[in-house]
Amino acid sequence: MKRRDWMAAATAAAGALAAGRRAEARAAGAGASPSLESEVVRLQLRHTWTTTMSSSAYRDTLHVRYTKDGATGIGEGAPIVRYHENALDAQKAVDAAREVVLAGDPWRLETLEAEAFRRLESQFAARAALDIALHDWLGKSLGVPVYRLLGLDPAAAPITTFSIGIDTPEITRQKTREAAEFPVLKVKVGLDSDETTIEAVRSVTGKPLRVDANEGWHDKETAIRKIEWLAGKGVELIEQPLPAALVEETAWIKQRSPIPVFADEACLRASAIPGLAHAYHGVNVKLDKTGGIREAVRMIHTARACGLKVMLGCMISSSVSTTAAAQISPLVDYADLDGHLLIANDPWQGVSVVDGRLVLPDRPGLGLLPRRAGA
Ligand code: MG
Repeated sequence: MKRRDWMAAATAAAGALAAGRRAEARAAGAGASPSLESEVVRLQLRHTWTTTMSSSAYRDTLHVRYTKDGATGIGEGAPIVRYHENALDAQKAVDAAREVVLAGDPWRLETLEAEAFRRLESQFAARAALDIALHDWLGKSLGVPVYRLLGLDPAAAPITTFSIGIDTPEITRQKTREAAEFPVLKVKVGLDSDETTIEAVRSVTGKPLRVDANEGWHDKETAIRKIEWLAGKGVELIEQPLPAALVEETAWIKQRSPIPVFADEACLRASAIPGLAHAYHGVNVKLDKTGGIREAVRMIHTARACGLKVMLGCMISSSVSTTAAAQISPLVDYADLDGHLLIANDPWQGVSVVDGRLVLPDRPGLGLLPRRAGA
């Protein structure tokens, strides 16, 4: 047998074996009823996390498991306090939608999600957890990674920033040193101490910085003065300089800013993007804001159609959420997917970071593995 023929035969045999195993697993679970479990998981932060909006030592996120036909999909949603969400309400919402989800056909995902999301109303963390679990289930059932289901090239995944929350100059210097392996940092600002924070980072490193004001500056004159100073310090973009409602003031900033201005709190869904395109150069898309992978992809394409750049961000979460976001990262210009790196008790391992670049697991679904027994 020629080497090429042997390789083809071996590949076909391996494929048949994998298909056989999947068929066995399906047969084993075929008689069982589908299930949807929910759990609130408390994630402990490595450093107390402070932005203009809050300060905390832990975060609670909602985790769900969807099981059907021998495969289990894992999902996570991080509730966003800014939008009046919390983990217990998200869990109640998922539990209330359970019957609809279990009665639906996951191979008709658009229909299933449309029906389930009507019950989940404004619970976007709950939507995200469910949508991610269903995508993980689909990938596992077909034996392919989610990025492959979506037709994306994992080699095109971008570098990710590592975020530095607001802190004292001494702790800021320590955090900056700890982030040595990341080629670009994202620094939280939006307070009177901004200049001190940036000087503390700059005393340790000269690498490019991205800055997030989280709506912390209150008028356009202050914002443009700060942005011009930051641009002189090697800052390459600014996120949400003014409160989300101040769209025309932000449009005034866009005309004058030496660096791109990105919307985060101002931009939750695809439908908001056309009305923001004159005020921002780009948008920050997060699965927890959009309610999962499907709406995030729609949002990315809407932003492109409006001529905007796209960042893919995250909340503080486990590897479930950041690995799900990383699956669509080949579509974006900038990634900020470090939520799982900020916590000390991640139950899962999934996306990794090598020389700052996102590396997706080459396993079916999200490609997650439990980090410890019983996780
Ligand atoms: Mg932000």
